[in-house]
Amino acid sequence: MKLYNSATHSKDEFTPNEPGVVRMYTCGPTVYHFAHIGNLRSYIMEDVLEKYLRWRGLDVRRVMNITDVGHLTSDADTGEDKMLKGARREHKTVLEIAKFYTDAFFADCEKLNIRKPNTVVPATSRIADFIEMISVLLEKGYAYVAGGNVYFDTSKLDEYYIFNKHNEDDLLVGAREDVGLDEAKRNKTDFVLWFTKSKFEDQELKWESPWGLGYPGWHIECSAISMRELGDRLDIHCGGIDNAFPHHTNEIAQSEAYCGHKWCNFWFHVHHLNTETGKMSKSSGEFLTVSLLEEKGYDPLVYRFFNLQSHYRKALTFTWDALDNASGAFDKLIARVAAIPAGGEADPDEMEKYRAAFDEALGNDLNTSLAVTALYDVLKADISPASKRALIADFDTVLGLDLIAKADAKPAEEPAEADAEIDALVAARTAARAAKNWAEADRIRDELKARGIILEDTPTGVKWKRA
Ligand code: AMP
Ligand code: ZN
Repeated sequence: MKLYNSATHSKDEFTPNEPGVVRMYTCGPTVYHFAHIGNLRSYIMEDVLEKYLRWRGLDVRRVMNITDVGHLTSDADTGEDKMLKGARREHKTVLEIAKFYTDAFFADCEKLNIRKPNTVVPATSRIADFIEMISVLLEKGYAYVAGGNVYFDTSKLDEYYIFNKHNEDDLLVGAREDVGLDEAKRNKTDFVLWFTKSKFEDQELKWESPWGLGYPGWHIECSAISMRELGDRLDIHCGGIDNAFPHHTNEIAQSEAYCGHKWCNFWFHVHHLNTETGKMSKSSGEFLTVSLLEEKGYDPLVYRFFNLQSHYRKALTFTWDALDNASGAFDKLIARVAAIPAGGEADPDEMEKYRAAFDEALGNDLNTSLAVTALYDVLKADISPASKRALIADFDTVLGLDLIAKADAKPAEEPAEADAEIDALVAARTAARAAKNWAEADRIRDELKARGIILEDTPTGVKWKRA
């Protein structure tokens, strides 16, 4: 299986550290607001990756954090704590906000058939681990205390910009409006591991630490939670592409400084969902949610299907027209699955070729649109209905579209192909009548009647309907 690795900038053969087991870490949501459908694009594609690895027989151990502290409104360690901002907006406590939006996040995931990771850890539940990690970084000389905060010293690293896909000028302190000058930093890329000097004195959640009462920086949680749950050799780390810098870059810096060797082999980054006017973002306050899609009458799985139709490494633009197209295609897909007669026995030999095509698509850097094509090829295939249904059910353990359940719940309908066949018979009867071949015309009428088709002569020609 080949997977694009942002750390090497190439499609590499994926092999886990321990044969048969995949240790996978995912940056979870910052729970100060609903997840928008952009966030959920990342989680849908990560879910497909996880399910595909399982489909291949690997035992995936997946861990996700919940960011309920420390993520400031700017990634550059400045601004207001996002959680605090959410709590102020809704006149609730930070913990109430965290609980409410964590539950809302998993409810959205369930609607989109996104599997809950084996282990989910709120950052606030692991403060002791963060303190331990920061203490080791200080002991090893990778961190320093200045102005009341603890900083990671990026000058101690041989290589800091692992993903190096950004313009250094953009990172200069003061180059962006929201990046205030932090006098205490020794290097512009240094980042906070522990805050005691918050710009906001009324920070709601604070913990005792060797450096004073305070709270953790944003990045430390993912390193510490991942190490505790999955050990110091990770196979895959996932997230949206915006997290590559600074978040994942800083995770690598502190994790490798802590454990003294390479930490994570594969970095899987999902590119953004954009609107026609730009990136969809939670902090702008204008975003689309799963509930909104439902209110407008869309099945959330239509949104999942929409995502599967394009590659995770390309930005995707959301428009209502595009969603409508996906919705129409999804309905037709369900109708075609529903038209496959149930019963009979699947034949693994005739299924093999189709499984191989599906595997080849996903095994080539998770090409989901080709995997969907492989599904359509099954619908067209000259194999037994039982094999078709078995293949669709099998593929759907990865695609997650509830195809069989939705098809079975659908009232039985004649397939679209059958319509075309009846059109052809009606046309043949019209031609027979024009040729005064009454016997043939009657024979066709009887055949149609036997199939429950009623013919009606109208001024614009013969129309038919089902009895
Ligand atoms: P957050 O809740 O802001 O911490 O983000 C949760 C996840 O969504 C992270 O993996 C982000 O990288 C990802 N993300 C944020 N915005 C988008 C977007 N517009 N499209 C896709 N993924 C996104
Ligand atoms: Zn993270």
